[in-house]
Amino acid sequence: MKHFIVGPVEMYECTKNVLGKGYTYFRTEEYGNLVKNCLEKLSEYLGNSTPNSLIYLASSGTGAMEAVIDNCMTKSDKALVIKGGTFGKRFCELLNYYDIPFESIDLEWNETLTKEHFNKFENKGFNTLFVNIDETQTGQLYDINIISDFCKRNNMYLVVDAISSFLADEYDMDKYGIDATIISSQKGLCISAGMALISFSKRFLNKIYSNPLPRTKYFNFRDYLKEIERGQTPYTPPVTTMYELDAILNYIEQSGGKNKWIKNVADKCMYFRERATSLGFKIPQYPKSNTLTPVYFDDVDASEIVKILRDKYEIYVNPCGGNLANRLLRVSHIGNTTIEDIDDLLEKMSKIYTELKSRELIYDRK
Ligand SMILES: *Cc1c(COP(=O)(O)O)cnc(C)c1O
Repeated sequence: MKHFIVGPVEMYECTKNVLGKGYTYFRTEEYGNLVKNCLEKLSEYLGNSTPNSLIYLASSGTGAMEAVIDNCMTKSDKALVIKGGTFGKRFCELLNYYDIPFESIDLEWNETLTKEHFNKFENKGFNTLFVNIDETQTGQLYDINIISDFCKRNNMYLVVDAISSFLADEYDMDKYGIDATIISSQKGLCISAGMALISFSKRFLNKIYSNPLPRTKYFNFRDYLKEIERGQTPYTPPVTTMYELDAILNYIEQSGGKNKWIKNVADKCMYFRERATSLGFKIPQYPKSNTLTPVYFDDVDASEIVKILRDKYEIYVNPCGGNLANRLLRVSHIGNTTIEDIDDLLEKMSKIYTELKSRELIYDRK
């Protein structure tokens, strides 16, 4: 069985069975120190120099997206969302749910975000921008320079869902003036699902403290921010995933650090794209994250390829939801996969594609 899905991904040996190696009750100073070390390292990876500004929740990524809106936004804010797929749409649904005024920049699935898209939103009173920097549905990586410049020009907060981009693409909160970053455990960090993390800028922390209380009690950020100073959480944290985080961060450091790790993902990604193209597969041209490659089909059903890979070869790639299900499949490059695994996948994809195409030709002749 091999997983080329975006998450949970193939795990590394060092993160398997972490509790079997021994663990501490989470209310101890020892556990708190482990947490503080992990979060400091992650803050460094995120390029955020504000101390004690990274919290973690027992939740998947969407829980953190929702909690950010509930804790950080009020009805007197005005948000702008980049909506280029299902994850952009999710921000819109959440803002809608909490009655936060917003507008969105709507992109077709294969439309590249450009500077021009922002023109009509200049000086219109928007104060917070929400973006999924890698829109995982299509794999488009938006240009952080364009987004960051727009936010600075308009004096806006910038909230980034980097869930599927973190540790696959370059990232730097201080450099781009990013005010909140949402990440989660099961993607680039390559550990189990169930932990979401949010990192804040100083000025966004101030906004949280001056906002009215959120509707949620369980995810009230003030409680998390207070506890995190000693590496604690208000309620039982996802302890197992925290031990996995500690293990993977040590492994990343031993393997040469963050930049080397990102380069390894980028190398696998480039290898896949070159080989796939030379085999005749079509890859959309918009700028893409290193996390995944969308492969486009106009002559066979993409979802059929996903299904045969799974049923016949036990290889899992991501289908593409919604209106793109028959046209796109997505291959992830994060997780413990090798060049040999990619060769194997491509060989099988080619075989299935050829078979499906000859079937289609027979249908056409009838
Ligand atoms: C995976 C992902 C999420 C979170 O999805 P969950 O199912 O809640 O973990 C959010 N945003 C993006 C861009 C993602 O790729």
